[in-house]
Amino acid sequence: MNSDIVLIDSDSDEGLKRRNSDADGASSQLYKRYHTSDEQIATEENGNDAVSGSSSNEMVGEELNVKESTNGSSSPVNDDIKLKGNRVEFDTSSESDSMEEAFDARDFLRTFGRDEFIRNFLPQNTAAPDIIRAIEILGFKVDPSIDTSDMYQLINYLREIFVRVMKNRIPLDDFYSIDHVLEKIKSSNNIIVITGAGISTSLGIPDFRSSKGLYSQLTSLGLSDPQEVFDIELFHTDPKIFYSIAHKILPPKDVYTPLHSFIRILESKNKLLRNYTQNIDNVEQNAGISASKIVQCHGSFATASCVTCKYKVDGEKIRKDIELKQPAFCPKCSKQRKKLEKSDNYYPESYGVFKPDITFFGEGLPSRFHDLINEDLQQCDLLISIGTSLQVAPVANIVEKIPAKIPQVLINRDPIPRCNFDVSILGFCDDAAVYLCKELSWELDHVKFEEILKGGISLNCLNEYEGTYRVINDSRPPPGSISDSQSQSDEDNDESDED
Ligand SMILES: [Zn+2]
Repeated sequence: MNSDIVLIDSDSDEGLKRRNSDADGASSQLYKRYHTSDEQIATEENGNDAVSGSSSNEMVGEELNVKESTNGSSSPVNDDIKLKGNRVEFDTSSESDSMEEAFDARDFLRTFGRDEFIRNFLPQNTAAPDIIRAIEILGFKVDPSIDTSDMYQLINYLREIFVRVMKNRIPLDDFYSIDHVLEKIKSSNNIIVITGAGISTSLGIPDFRSSKGLYSQLTSLGLSDPQEVFDIELFHTDPKIFYSIAHKILPPKDVYTPLHSFIRILESKNKLLRNYTQNIDNVEQNAGISASKIVQCHGSFATASCVTCKYKVDGEKIRKDIELKQPAFCPKCSKQRKKLEKSDNYYPESYGVFKPDITFFGEGLPSRFHDLINEDLQQCDLLISIGTSLQVAPVANIVEKIPAKIPQVLINRDPIPRCNFDVSILGFCDDAAVYLCKELSWELDHVKFEEILKGGISLNCLNEYEGTYRVINDSRPPPGSISDSQSQSDEDNDESDED
């Protein structure tokens, strides 16, 4: 849980609607939708914008550390939106030439992604006038209330514009069916797989935000916000709080799901570029996925480090303490700690305490994420997002940053309308994995493969126009039903927001 920006889901924004199946009208239709959408951005002031932030921090090379304030209300974005409605405005007074330029610039942004846009439209030592120019190129005007000498405000402003333009990703015209997905998996060799809590709930690992998730179990701790158990400051003040609950999220040994096996198969067939997982359960390694192919975006329990001297140990070394709900102490710091305990000197409660190397709020993401993501984005030839509702940046931003021509597939319990995936496969992640393997004639090396297969697995096309399918397992109650005890992709909760 670092302090990156949190994206808020919206159920009202559907972004651009889908491809037109009428071949003749397709391109003009697309053109019209594209342009209409831009107009809509201009006039939209009712708060449909779901996104309160994302990170274009790379522009200034530093974390902006903006965290969305949700105020705990059911409509967390409203205040922000009013503000945004006033601030981000499409410049309808532009001459036709600049309108044309704006459409081209937006097209560039959607096609090549944010990083490439920044590289092409902003000089290396970006100053305020450059950002204002980029804003204008995209067809927006800077509200007079903005202090144009304030780089922070301008960057945030440009960031909002990026989000507005890019969340209207236009689904691909030629990628909308399950056959397209299967063909693309066969031909791809640089697939990025993004995963979240929904892929591990079938192992009994709780997600974080659902009604049955971890946070809802923590109300007895008396914290103002259950997420505080992952606040680095609180850990320093009183590590016992974290240790009192850590056993609840201690990953099980040696187990993994058919979905994890599916990712491993992608690797064994040289198709997996990287699995960016938001999960901290380290189950990917149980499944045999190579460490080089995994980015644990929010860290994991695989290792733990002393908060004082940084001495790193295998996560197993502190498992016993976690099970006993007591802080684990660093052997290298124990002498000094005993001294401090006997003295009158102040020392932090966390002195010489091990912390699992999961990313707490207030900590940066592991450097491995930043080291790999930009190059991976350029190499990627297919994106599959599984078991996550993509609410937590910067992982959530990966789908925005992928070049627009790259197909994006969702496997999740619920659809995510704001993301405009080309194809969505809804249902249990494990069932989807088994279905895909069956269709690809791949043998999934997992004990549950045959079991799920025998249940009778099929796919129901919910809406051809939207490219949405639901995977059906006849032996399983439909997701959301009362007997749906497995609740595999409880992702509304999603996510491990361990972020
Ligand atoms: Zn130590």
